[in-house]
Amino acid sequence: MSNTIWTMIQPALVPSGGMEVLNPATGEMIARVQTYSSDEVDAIIQRAEAARKGWAALTAKVRSDRLRDWYNMIQQHHHELAALCTAECGKPLAEASGEVNYAASFAEWFSEEARRAYGETIPGFAEGKAIMVTKEPIGTCAAITPWNFPLAMITRKAAPALAAGCSIVIKPSESTPLSALALEALAVEAGIPKDVFRIVPSEDARAIGQVFCTHPLVRKISFTGSTAVGKKLLEQAASTIKGASMELGGNAPFIVFDDADMDAALDGAMIAKFRNAGQTCIGANRLLVQKSVHDEFVDGLVRRVRDLKVGNGVEPGMEIGPLITDKALRKVDELTASAIKQGATLACGGSRHNAGAQFFTPTVLTGVTQDMDIASQEIFGPVACVMAFDDEAEAIRIANDTRYGLASYFYTRDLGRAWRVREALEFGMVAINEGLLGTEVAPFGGIKESGLGREGSRHGLDEYFELKYALIGGLSG
Ligand code: ADP
Repeated sequence: MSNTIWTMIQPALVPSGGMEVLNPATGEMIARVQTYSSDEVDAIIQRAEAARKGWAALTAKVRSDRLRDWYNMIQQHHHELAALCTAECGKPLAEASGEVNYAASFAEWFSEEARRAYGETIPGFAEGKAIMVTKEPIGTCAAITPWNFPLAMITRKAAPALAAGCSIVIKPSESTPLSALALEALAVEAGIPKDVFRIVPSEDARAIGQVFCTHPLVRKISFTGSTAVGKKLLEQAASTIKGASMELGGNAPFIVFDDADMDAALDGAMIAKFRNAGQTCIGANRLLVQKSVHDEFVDGLVRRVRDLKVGNGVEPGMEIGPLITDKALRKVDELTASAIKQGATLACGGSRHNAGAQFFTPTVLTGVTQDMDIASQEIFGPVACVMAFDDEAEAIRIANDTRYGLASYFYTRDLGRAWRVREALEFGMVAINEGLLGTEVAPFGGIKESGLGREGSRHGLDEYFELKYALIGGLSG
């Protein structure tokens, strides 16, 4: 192996000043990171614009090879990256290792897709004319990413942009810049020119967002984060008519019908709800359970939730790490308390956990109803909310009663029901008898206020292309 990750990111660190990166499990400072001002980001965008032309002029095969090398570099540093991810975002090491694979998969997938950016020809509409449509890189792109998947959210945007022949400047979350900087350093080692892929940490997200969205050289903004911020960015991007991809909030229903395989449904619920301590935008926010199997499901759920091991993610076997900030912890605490006040029943958990200042005890609430705050807001914490329903029609009505439309899940063994419910759910993603749906091979994204565009799959590459139509005349002999 070449250098260690820490050696590679050293140039991005500063001995004093800069931005502090904290370990959410312990509160300790891990590093100080150099930050970028609006003016510096402006200069970086200009360099990205200058560099992208040479990058786009390379053959797709060369870009593909560089991305493949990036994939290999990521996997060669797998354990170091997982440790860095756990240190700055708190997820248990096993989950962080899964995230390294997920992050690497986008570099691999888009290295393959880079060579398949086929255009089309269309029969001419008159004699002597031909039509050709090509896919052209959209240009210099900018992106803003969140802390909950600090590695994968970088590669899911950078890999398709680079595959398409674009350059991309990314501001990572202020909580997790180190994973992003590590990926940038590995990309440089893989031969991706520094100016076509830049990470710009900043504590002033608003200012950098403003530069990204209003800069005349930036042709596309890609964002993953909250719906509130996504709306602001879309407004700002209107000033220069930029392309926009938005992966925003969710309020996923997880429906358990009475004919479900109960063990499978419980396994799925644990993953869909408690992965990353509940801090995922596709997390099961509302567990809708048919009344006839409600008690059986709740019993099984409470048993499993009580068994979850809570603690610092570096310790072996830990399953629930800390919440990312004290503010996030307070929100989960308040939502739980307000649900109980509004009539929900506490089946287990319900309070902070003594593993550390930012830990919350895995919790199950039953008797949750649609009018409670906890049913309409993203919980982003280890709190499972169980709601009871009578029949299929009621389940669909409750599931769709949200302004969000990202992920949804349901469990049934009835083929007809599976078909009907899949069709009726107003969500960009539907998992049937599965609790985990993220994969590089499928289009990830939401409808309604959950966002615009898709990431991953062949569609993820198209987000970084414009179509160019050429009419060729004078072809008659
Ligand atoms: P979360 O609550 O999950 O952190 P946010 O939407 O607040 O979601 O954050 C996601 C990303 O958006 C982070 O990189 C953050 O720095 C950035 N961000 C937050 N507020 C703004 C803003 N006003 N303009 C641009 N980016 C922002």
